Amino acid sequence: PVIPGSCYKVHDGTRPQPRVVTPGTESSPGAAGVPPSDAVVLFDGSCLCGWVSAGDGSAAGWKLKDGYMEAAPGSGNIASTEKFGSCQLHVEWASPMLVKGDGQGRGNSGVFLMGLYEIQVLDCYDNPTYADGTTGGIYGQYPPLVNACRKPGEWQSYDIIWVAPLFAGDKLVSPARVTVLLNGVLLHHDKEVQGPTQHRILAGYGPHDAKLPLVLQDHGDPVRFRNIWYRPLTDYDQG
Ligand code: MG
Repeated sequence: PVIPGSCYKVHDGTRPQPRVVTPGTESSPGAAGVPPSDAVVLFDGSCLCGWVSAGDGSAAGWKLKDGYMEAAPGSGNIASTEKFGSCQLHVEWASPMLVKGDGQGRGNSGVFLMGLYEIQVLDCYDNPTYADGTTGGIYGQYPPLVNACRKPGEWQSYDIIWVAPLFAGDKLVSPARVTVLLNGVLLHHDKEVQGPTQHRILAGYGPHDAKLPLVLQDHGDPVRFRNIWYRPLTDYDQG
């Protein structure tokens, strides 16, 4: 029989084979892993090329250190020069080992998908704050399912499946959807995002480009990042 929605029979031998991708390797505390073979690498620890100041496009003011970059407080958010929409995104981060401040003031940064939709980065190890602003929260909208934080100073990973919103002219056709894992633990599953994340106000969509930069937040804390890459989800890409 023919499979509904396709032109192939069940177990059809003429159906195209999946594309071959060589998997990457896991990171260790001391070294970043290798991305999958078809990943677009945004940061491999060797230089800040590919990143600019999100505010004015000038050189990124963050510090490049031994295989990672660190937010230089006051230098501002940074943006990838690469622009993309729907994707599988991998980001590793570490909050400062020296614990300072509390609540939103401890190891705060953020991963802004398309520069607009923040997955919160925060040191929430033994550090309560408002739930929709905890580590992995879709900021101001949805708390994560669980708190899967490692200790301050330890490398942590986000694996994010992002389906970009779709607009027709000024109209929203379909909202963004996101799945997030922190350290391999599910935080959000195919969650419908309400719009660009905001502080103390409700979110709402406005039309924007189908491809935009990834932005990392300078929230005044020296949070570190390494091993950042994405794979475009071409089947979902609406650009
Ligand atoms: Mg933040």
